[in-house]
Amino acid sequence: MQPINPKVTNTTCPYCGVGCGVSVTKEGSTGVGITGDASHPANRGNLCLKGQTLGETVSLEGRLLYPSVYGERCSWDTATSHIADRFKQTIEQHGPDSVAFYVSGQLLTEDYYVVNKFVKGYLGTANIDTNSRLCMASSVAGHKRAFGSDTVPGCYEDLEQADLIVLVGSNLAWCHPVLFNRITAARNDNKHLRVINIDPRRTATAELSDEHLPIHPDSDTALFAGLLRWLAMHGYADQHFIQTATGGLEEVLSSIGELDIKTVAEHTGLDDTTIHAFYQKFADTRRVVTVYSQGVNQSVGGTDKVNAIINCHLYTGRIGKPGCGPFSVTGQPNAMGGRETGGLANTLTCHMELADASHRRTVQDYWKSPYIADKPGLTAVDLFNAIHQGQVKALWIMATNPLVSLPDSNFVKEALRRCDFVVQSDVVATNDTSAFAHVRLPAQAWGEKDGTVTNSERCISRQRRFLSPPGETRADWWAVAQVADKLGFAGAFAYTAPHEIFAEYARLSGLDNNGSRDFDISACENITAADYRNLTPFYWPATQKVQSTPIRFFANGAFYTKDRRAQFVVTLPVEQTPKNDLTLKLNSGRARDQWHTMTRSGLAHTLAKHTAEPYVQINPADAGRLQLNTADLVRVSSEEGHCVVRVVVTDSIAEGAAFIPMHWCHPFASDGKINSLTQRVTDPVSKQPALKRANVSISALSMAHYGFAVSSQSLATDQFDYFSKAKCEGGWRYEFALYQSIDIREAATKLIKHHGPDCVEYTAGNGRYSHFSFTGTTLNTALVIDTKPVICARNWLSAQLVETHPAGNRHQLLAAIKPHSKEDIGELICNCMAVGSRQIEAAITEHGCTSVQEIGNETLAGTNCGSCRSDLAAILKRLTMEQVA
Ligand code: SF4
Repeated sequence: MQPINPKVTNTTCPYCGVGCGVSVTKEGSTGVGITGDASHPANRGNLCLKGQTLGETVSLEGRLLYPSVYGERCSWDTATSHIADRFKQTIEQHGPDSVAFYVSGQLLTEDYYVVNKFVKGYLGTANIDTNSRLCMASSVAGHKRAFGSDTVPGCYEDLEQADLIVLVGSNLAWCHPVLFNRITAARNDNKHLRVINIDPRRTATAELSDEHLPIHPDSDTALFAGLLRWLAMHGYADQHFIQTATGGLEEVLSSIGELDIKTVAEHTGLDDTTIHAFYQKFADTRRVVTVYSQGVNQSVGGTDKVNAIINCHLYTGRIGKPGCGPFSVTGQPNAMGGRETGGLANTLTCHMELADASHRRTVQDYWKSPYIADKPGLTAVDLFNAIHQGQVKALWIMATNPLVSLPDSNFVKEALRRCDFVVQSDVVATNDTSAFAHVRLPAQAWGEKDGTVTNSERCISRQRRFLSPPGETRADWWAVAQVADKLGFAGAFAYTAPHEIFAEYARLSGLDNNGSRDFDISACENITAADYRNLTPFYWPATQKVQSTPIRFFANGAFYTKDRRAQFVVTLPVEQTPKNDLTLKLNSGRARDQWHTMTRSGLAHTLAKHTAEPYVQINPADAGRLQLNTADLVRVSSEEGHCVVRVVVTDSIAEGAAFIPMHWCHPFASDGKINSLTQRVTDPVSKQPALKRANVSISALSMAHYGFAVSSQSLATDQFDYFSKAKCEGGWRYEFALYQSIDIREAATKLIKHHGPDCVEYTAGNGRYSHFSFTGTTLNTALVIDTKPVICARNWLSAQLVETHPAGNRHQLLAAIKPHSKEDIGELICNCMAVGSRQIEAAITEHGCTSVQEIGNETLAGTNCGSCRSDLAAILKRLTMEQVA
């Protein structure tokens, strides 16, 4: 433990599971400066653009600052008394399983520990599940089936020490950019390192990999089960490891006897040569890491996919050694902390098991609690089914927006509407879920919270407070303790600071352990406030002292099953859903620069420059058949519902498939929720929803008017049939459309009537209408309306809110396109270095750049966070092919 620089707060990024260290300095009275923490082992000073722009997200815009009951502001005492009364009444009338909690991978470990203790030890139910169920429950289940514990065997350094990295169902370049950049750097140092990307989509990650295997959706199990068979047939077993450390191989091998390369080709859509080359490469490379995330986990066969991958690593003994292993990367900043504290409905804290009587006894004795849950609670999808059916009558939601993130949003909405009593702890004043909350509790946001998180490689880091908590916001653990107090459990929840919670948790992790459980941080059991304040990142296990270097598990066996042997698991290929010629198979994922439901990333104007609107990507063949063009507005429909998005035609999507990003919801779009389309279907083992399984149809929308606006103030979006809204410097930018033909001038005047009287308008011969309002030399609102999708320089126009516009110099604005000059950089590609498409094209065609590296040397594009390197690769590929043609 080292003292920290008092002028700099070292904390952790609140976005993805890479868990980068962030150094924060205060700037002026309200601003903060953000840099990567060079001492943090996850990122060594690097940050992706999301991390770099965290300073744009810490304003109080849209924050929930005070508690309320039934919409009336009240004191914390009133709110928590009301919650305690309603939970008590509900339990007395309907039993403990009539109440539930739905929490989040955004919670800190201390929050997670306290709420789990309260629910599983004091309310007498295990009805607490987390939104991490939606992203990595299949990995948890797969680990437990194979290893007997939810253990991530390796660490990030393995990616730098490998000679082959297989990325499965993972767009690592966009979803875990700093980790991907570590791989990119390793490739520069190790010319033998090869990266193979297995994904139905040709993503940014595929563009930057050595090879892309575009398999059919959900055919991963067949590919890896076929690999195991091939390895067995060609003598690639690590016999010593198999005989001394594993069990169950014979049954698995006999289950895949028919899975020859030809059959694998039928499942995956890959040709025999490609499959054979992949199998041979895997077999010939000693140091192999297989990284996987949501493309594997979010499936009806997610757990089998995980075990099919693990089986191959066990068979070749490639686990727990430098540069080897299966590696699940998590989506959320504290998904791992949730797993460790028992945040899932089927687990107990500190990686103990609800089904194990000795574990239950250990925990209950330690907590001195009146109860201990002895059967699994309801998992996310089943929980909302039970709410819909009236079995669960009181629900407390923390730090998540289930109406957007759970499958079948319309069903979830109805479930929430039917629920007798809903409590919501959140940082935002309004989101889709908030309309259904009876009690609202103001939570602390990043920068205000104080606690710990665990990243994908088992590294525990402090998330430190550097801003005073605003209004009456409080820590989530504190809110739970208040309710526990009012239910008569005060003594068990008498925490005054997070280090007390962490110490209690650390002590429990070592209790009755003696190496029988993987998770042990008992080195911290006596941590003081000062030690906690100065705690530097460390890896678990940590029994004697905290470790600043990662420890690998299982190189020599010693798994956590009863016989301490890993288990090979029989896996079944996923059955494809029947699809007719009129429907497309829907895939989902992240946009490059947004995060989850945009409550934080949506406040960063820099991030909106990359993608400011929800969209559906479709293949050119499907676009032709459906008579759709890029920029058309379409309705995407499934049996569950519909959404309205913009079309992007691209050959990165296979024919018959569609892709929609997961982020857009209210207040950022009128109808952008992808989960309006998805089904409540789950993996039978992990209960993780299959969020990439829906069949959808797409139909063009006939709009009378399309519009684009930038404004220093919020526009009334209820005037539009379709809208999306994104932050820009000095205000907001809007896309909108109207079904009915209207008097455009009248509508424009109505829309921007609150702004200054100094207006300029222009109607072109083709009916395109432009309207600008000013105060002095400052642009208040710019509005462009057309009868077809608006073409204009959006990023340039958005930047004009913070420019000066003398009265005699406004003709450029009226054209609403950027004047052609040497500053006309085209579409912004590299956000960090402000490099546009025209500059990159010039670097290739005029300056002879032939690689992403050379483009970076010439223009600086891609030399900072690296998120745009795939875009550079795509431009390079396009222009090179054009030149060849
Ligand atoms: Fe944050 Fe993830 Fe980016 Fe690191 S890679 S800065 S943790 S979003």
